Amino acid sequence: MSDRPPLWLFADQLGPHFRDGDLAGRRIVLIESAHAFAHKRYHRQKLHLVLAGLRGLAAELPDRVTLIRAPDYRTGLAEAGEPVVVHEPGSHAADRLVRRLHREGLVAEIRPAAGFARSKADFTSWARGRGRFVMEDFYRDQRRRFEVLLEPDGEPAGGQWNFDRDNRNPPPKRSELGVPRPWHPEENEVDERVRADLDAWTRDGLITTVGADGPRRFAVSRAEARRALRKFLDDRLPSFGAHQDAMLAGDWAMSHALLSVPLNLGLLHPLDVVEQAERRYREGTAPLPAVEGFIRQVLGWREWVWHLYWYLGPDYLRHNELGAHTPLPGWWRDLDPGAVGARCLRTALAGVRDRGYAHHIERLMVLGNHALQRGYDPGELTEWFATAFVDGFPWVMPANVIGMSQYADGGIVATKPYAAGGAYVNRMSDHCRGCPFDPKRRLGPTACPFTAGYWAFLDRTADRLRGNQRMRQPLNGLARLADLEAVVEQEHRRTEF
Ligand code: FAD
Repeated sequence: MSDRPPLWLFADQLGPHFRDGDLAGRRIVLIESAHAFAHKRYHRQKLHLVLAGLRGLAAELPDRVTLIRAPDYRTGLAEAGEPVVVHEPGSHAADRLVRRLHREGLVAEIRPAAGFARSKADFTSWARGRGRFVMEDFYRDQRRRFEVLLEPDGEPAGGQWNFDRDNRNPPPKRSELGVPRPWHPEENEVDERVRADLDAWTRDGLITTVGADGPRRFAVSRAEARRALRKFLDDRLPSFGAHQDAMLAGDWAMSHALLSVPLNLGLLHPLDVVEQAERRYREGTAPLPAVEGFIRQVLGWREWVWHLYWYLGPDYLRHNELGAHTPLPGWWRDLDPGAVGARCLRTALAGVRDRGYAHHIERLMVLGNHALQRGYDPGELTEWFATAFVDGFPWVMPANVIGMSQYADGGIVATKPYAAGGAYVNRMSDHCRGCPFDPKRRLGPTACPFTAGYWAFLDRTADRLRGNQRMRQPLNGLARLADLEAVVEQEHRRTEF
């Protein structure tokens, strides 16, 4: 046994910041756990990315990395031959496992999580005793703490903390946003091997996946992640923001960064990403509202969601304050957009099937909104988001799915439900042109499922939402709806979306 235990890295700890300082030069243990891949029905491309990330690192550092293929992590560690050092992992389940392995002597030391700007302890002291618990306060604190986009006197650059109001434009009247295409990787021999293995494991019944296989679209190595980041900063950051909330059926990426995979695999450190984005503003190559909007996502939302995962604890996932118990339909679980008529829903679902990706507004205002209106079980929905998306990891789910998109926590994360009718989709997208449903109609065969679904949702949840000031206006609107009974009856019977 050496006095410098080897470093065990999980598949979301692949970047250099997980192996620097006194960990530099240590032997690295990576474990390909068959159980981790097989116990859930993941998107095919998600498994591809994770495997390619692990194997890519092993190929990059052949003298340091031992890649162990084992049925589970415990067996893999036993094979490593000596106790390991590990960083706190990214889920409650993995955290429990690591602590158990520590007690059993297979793990020599547990280091703090290394992939985020702020430590868990630091967040807890920030959060403790706070009357107001909102992302915006946390985000401003992050900006001050890490000195991001500040003037020399400590005031925010441009005199404003938040340029969100400049970032809510509807899409242009074109089929594409007109920004350069995003970076995409060249597949290599690691991809070839991963694809062959996934084919064989599927054939042999060892794994069951969902979604299409496809060309790999996201970065899985440090070099690729840096290239993807640079290309985003050069080509797309300047227009990030303005149309951040908009959707175009013919433009799946819009100006989004497509960096959630390399960020969540731990290939990029968020502070590094933020610093490079800020530099673009300082150099004058990207406008402040775009840069601030992007930094808010990475330094604000992403960190907030990570810390809430730990702060709110595993029981948070059990919240179901709106009493939603509808099981996910088969066409949703199987990613079958052909079963759907509404163009917005069909397009978002096709994106998940083909790429394991949908951008934020598709996730929140189309998929999440539909699930909220139809009362899909939040726990089942969380599992779906975590497995069907290439960037789905347990820590991302509670705040985004339970809190923000389903309001299942009754208002801890969001101040009101993100429910919207077809008018919203029509304003923010080009989907309603060429859709068999009419966003203005709430009754009849062409009634938009989002418009009618919105009223049916409010009707179903009115008693639970009445105490919320922000819901007063919509609930007043509901009370004035002359045909409410017919709308509710129609939506109750609806089988086609
Ligand atoms: P951009 O829109 O370009 O944003 C830049 C970066 O900011 C992202 O790469 C991401 O790292 C970060 N970010 C922005 N918003 C969030 C947020 N709310 N939570 C966490 N990070 C954020 N994000 C995931 O990483 N994995 C998920 O599984 C996931 N599921 C989601 C489910 C729902 C219902 C909702 C509403 C949001 C979800 N998000 C998730 C957050 C966000 O939608 C994605 O991070 C984003 O769409 C990824 O695409 P992008 O890299 O092009 O992001």
